[in-house]
Amino acid sequence: MSTIDTSGMLIDPKVIPRRSSGIEHGVLPSVLAIVVHQTDSSTAESSLNGYKDGGNGAHFLIDKNGQIYQTASLYARCYHVGKLIKSKCLTVNKNTCDTAAMAKMLAMSWTQQINALDAHERAKSYPNRYPVNSDAIGIELVGLHIDDKSYETVTAAQNTSLQWLIDELYTQFNLKPSDVYSHPTVSYKNPGEASTAKWK
Ligand SMILES: [Zn+2]
Repeated sequence: MSTIDTSGMLIDPKVIPRRSSGIEHGVLPSVLAIVVHQTDSSTAESSLNGYKDGGNGAHFLIDKNGQIYQTASLYARCYHVGKLIKSKCLTVNKNTCDTAAMAKMLAMSWTQQINALDAHERAKSYPNRYPVNSDAIGIELVGLHIDDKSYETVTAAQNTSLQWLIDELYTQFNLKPSDVYSHPTVSYKNPGEASTAKWK
């Protein structure tokens, strides 16, 4: 089994460290979930080069050939979830929503609604809401955005590596399959992003 060193790097022959401190934004106080993404880039190098400029990024990047890179410390927060999270109760079980508050928000205009839902959800604790940047590890799979609904298909080698990595993270952070989400499940994204990623 892999280990995590004092700087938050996963130590295993399968993982190449390519840390970019510019995509680390303060401390990641706890790891309660994993969010799986696709990069909208055609090569790992283009994403790795982009990370050098800082800004948004995730903790791991998996190339089309299955090579895993660790791009940020597991003790650091990355910006990968996005600004607004969806309502988990609305998606998973409407009966658990605060009915009066929900009715009020759903009557708002779209922009007001998604902002109000985000604030309402952030007042909850995980797992009653979807994960946010402060409690989630991000994994990016190299792959291009194709159109409004789709991304390139995740390769078999990427899925094999993704499964291995997620198994390691389950053990390291005591997570379970229900703690792993594709990005469009959590926030308002192209529904095709990571739709062909398989981790269970
Ligand atoms: Zn994403």
